[in-house]
Amino acid sequence: MTTTNDSPPKGEDGRDRSLPVIANPSRRTAVKGAFATLGAAAFVAAVSPLRQAAERTSAAEFMQSHYKRLTDEDKRKIIERLEAEAKENHGVEVEIADDRPIPGTKFVYAINLSVCNGNGKCVEACHKENNHDRSTGQSYIRVLEMPKGTMDMEEGNTTYSGVVPKDDKFYLPVQCQQCDEPPCVDVCPVKATWKEEDGIVVVDYNWCIGCRYCEAACPYHARRFNWKQAEIPAEEINPDQSYLSNRLRPVGVVEKCTYCLHRTRRGKLPACLEACPTGARVFGNILDPDSNIRWILENKRVYILKEELGTKPAFFYYFD
Ligand code: SF4
Ligand code: SF4
Repeated sequence: MTTTNDSPPKGEDGRDRSLPVIANPSRRTAVKGAFATLGAAAFVAAVSPLRQAAERTSAAEFMQSHYKRLTDEDKRKIIERLEAEAKENHGVEVEIADDRPIPGTKFVYAINLSVCNGNGKCVEACHKENNHDRSTGQSYIRVLEMPKGTMDMEEGNTTYSGVVPKDDKFYLPVQCQQCDEPPCVDVCPVKATWKEEDGIVVVDYNWCIGCRYCEAACPYHARRFNWKQAEIPAEEINPDQSYLSNRLRPVGVVEKCTYCLHRTRRGKLPACLEACPTGARVFGNILDPDSNIRWILENKRVYILKEELGTKPAFFYYFD
């Protein structure tokens, strides 16, 4: 099973593109800074996806401010523009909301690894729910086939095939752990990614400069770079969208799991959970003392991945 499009396109010289070196805190001056640092030829090769994105960027989009500085009126106009673009480019009516955290909510996920059988239905559901490019196996979830006796995800195999479950293996679904100490946020040179009050780590896709520092910093391989514009048949586009979640993202930016905030902030469950046929997934508000997730954390021996890194995931695993 392949669950990401981690392999970048090769440059014209046949080599992988290197990352641009960007250390300037302003988005637009950062791009200028990278040009000065790398020189013209290297810069053009390194930011080819950005160049493609720039060709598609309207003046209004380029002048758009950071999400946190937008007024309600700014957001209304931007969302109207994005909905019109979806109609023009994809022939579909979409509705983009600006779903905000629910006060008194801290979302947490847990997976029962005794029950998960590696069928990958969660991966497929994420692919569809979040409007990923259909020509890729892109998903925010990777299911690792693991040798029994270890929780070291680096020993897992993401390209397994054949009948599951295999007797000598267990299955470890990994997606963004919504870390309480997220290294991906710390390294972003333009503050295009941050953690919200309900614990969800988000990206402003229109402020991201695509430097991929966050992707490199994530120890869980949970971020995805958008190499191309998503191609999805109009009838398959999920029209229920949110600005910080599953709207159609620009080329040349990084994206990630948002615990389906366009669903969960509306009182629904994540799509991956609903699609899981084994009931392995549990999601909820840890601040609610009556929630199932709270019961699991209080009564099960739970594990977190790569605990030694101090990232403090809001994502737990347990066995019966
Ligand atoms: S899992 Fe990775 S992308 Fe998600 S919050 Fe943690 S470091 Fe960031
Ligand atoms: S979100 Fe990631 S790719 Fe985008 S600007 Fe920040 S570090 Fe770079």
